[in-house]
Amino acid sequence: MHIHFLTGEFAIGTDETAFLTHHIERTRAMLGFTIVFCIVFFLVFFVTDIAVLGLDAALRQTLPARLVVAASAGTCAWLAYRRPLSIRATRLAASIAEGIALCCFMVVALARPNEVHWHAMSMLIILVVIYLYIPNRLAYATALGTGATIVFLALATFVLPPRPVSDLLTMGMLLTMINTFGILAARRYNRVSREQFRLQMKLKLLAERDQLTGCYNRHYLHDHLLEHELARARSIGHPVSVILCDIDHFKRINDSFGHHEGDVVIRTFAGLLHGMVRDGVDAVVRYGGEEFLLVLPGVGLADGARLAEKLRAAFAANLVGPVDDVPQLQSTASFGLATFDFAHDNGRVTLPDLILTADKLLYAAKRNGRNRVEAIEMQ
Ligand code: GH3
Ligand code: MG
Ligand code: MG
Repeated sequence: MHIHFLTGEFAIGTDETAFLTHHIERTRAMLGFTIVFCIVFFLVFFVTDIAVLGLDAALRQTLPARLVVAASAGTCAWLAYRRPLSIRATRLAASIAEGIALCCFMVVALARPNEVHWHAMSMLIILVVIYLYIPNRLAYATALGTGATIVFLALATFVLPPRPVSDLLTMGMLLTMINTFGILAARRYNRVSREQFRLQMKLKLLAERDQLTGCYNRHYLHDHLLEHELARARSIGHPVSVILCDIDHFKRINDSFGHHEGDVVIRTFAGLLHGMVRDGVDAVVRYGGEEFLLVLPGVGLADGARLAEKLRAAFAANLVGPVDDVPQLQSTASFGLATFDFAHDNGRVTLPDLILTADKLLYAAKRNGRNRVEAIEMQ
């Protein structure tokens, strides 16, 4: 997960999407607060318009612009909420709301040519909001912020009544400064939040996965998987199969070729299991040293037995051990499969029961000669 030097965002799209998806609730909360605050503030500001321009002129000159800003910001906030998981839509909504707000700001600035200083100050505040409070890609926020600054300075210089050069220079300097600090602060926020996410993902990986094989560990099985899959199976009412498998005579492999080669065999076995189950649906857990548990939601006895047989045959086709000099060994594994159809759930069968049954069947497979599958459907 590489963080881009310039933007502080993840360089790879999938990493960035994972981060944004993980942060979506926080982002939505911040976006909601910012937009509602700005709309209310913008409308209340109409009171000062009345004080400065009088009711008629204020109604004519600035109320339409203020209403357009409020309506467009409100619409974009609504769009962003309606499609909360679409990151592109959220960014598009943010950019459109910012674009419209900035255009309307320019209209108000043109309508009140004598208040250019105040407008320059408002512009500074708007830029802070754009860089720090409206979630958007830094590149888009920078384009909007610097673009609006250039337009505002061009209006002040060429369209509005002439002003002393020193005035324009000071405004230009202040706006450049806020753009620079806004970009730097947004970049730092991007980087810090992504570094935090990266660390969180690393800790999650360490807490849930086994280091040697990358399979889930027993912590994950007991803390999350069992409960989650049982609840899902009961609510959907589908069958669940669990397969417990263990490499045969593994001690011989360790004794003949050493612990390192033993590790290679364990990793090969785990890779084979991962390769033959459904990605993101089935779970592969390292249950013990060279013993693995597969949890297969929605898989009945026939399909489960077919899979176990395929795994058995594929692993038995493997020869293990260093190729040079030493004769290689055939590696095999034994499998215990237990299935329960939660469509006929009586509330008594749980996943630990299935695992216990699969464990008994695994040992039956060992007793019956190894390199075989024993299966049962629990009633
Ligand atoms: P069986 O067919 O009855 O399963 O015989 P087995 O020799 O495989 O017996 P068992 O399953 O009890 O043996 C497990 C061995 O696995 C014992 C232990 O030294 C070894 N082992 C456990 N974890 C690791 C590991 O991470 N790496 C290596 N290389 N060996 C391990
Ligand atoms: Mg074994
Ligand atoms: Mg074992």
